[in-house]
Amino acid sequence: MRVLIVEDEDHLAGLLKRGLAEEGYTVDLVGDAARALATAGSADYDAAVLDVVLPDLDGFEVCARLRRAGWQVPVLMLTARDAVSDRIRGLDAGADDYLCKPFSFGELCARVRALIRRAGVARGQPVRQLRVGEIRLDPISRRVWSGPAEVYLSTKEFVLLELMMRNHGQALERAGILELVWGTRHPITSNVVDQYVRYLRSKLGQDTIETVRGIGYRMASPAP
Ligand code: CA
Repeated sequence: MRVLIVEDEDHLAGLLKRGLAEEGYTVDLVGDAARALATAGSADYDAAVLDVVLPDLDGFEVCARLRRAGWQVPVLMLTARDAVSDRIRGLDAGADDYLCKPFSFGELCARVRALIRRAGVARGQPVRQLRVGEIRLDPISRRVWSGPAEVYLSTKEFVLLELMMRNHGQALERAGILELVWGTRHPITSNVVDQYVRYLRSKLGQDTIETVRGIGYRMASPAP
């Protein structure tokens, strides 16, 4: 699940990015409207969190422009005040929900999850479960099964498995995995990826994830 955050205040932006990443989302963060407009179409986003107060255009205008361009990703607007006029402007601009500052992080996460779920239902395609061989993963409820048995994973194990499943059959580089799952806070020499691959293998089976010598790891595609 990939989320775009548009927020210019460093402190809040950092908290949102870290918090949503901890929750298992892949997060892209931009700090102004121009970059938001340029970035929105660059990836397959599942949701966006858009602040109203930005240094160039306001969030209402960003949302309206994206909608006019046909961008359908669900948008959660962060408004500074709990003013009815702000809520109406946001919804008129094409936002799907709004949250007033200050908000609890738990509520923000719940709203983002609800938006992603509703968007899937509206498209007539409830968010698809991923399946590779015997392993099944539900990105919204965050549950994983191996055959009929549910497997309980930590947040990072879950994110790593989702990444491997979405790219099954492809070799993923250690450095790329590290950045996508842990962000760039870890030194490149970190062996955390190897450690988590071991955890996944012990829970899902040793042959679930193959080592690709000199590169990283690959989740085997199921036999046709
Ligand atoms: Ca702001």
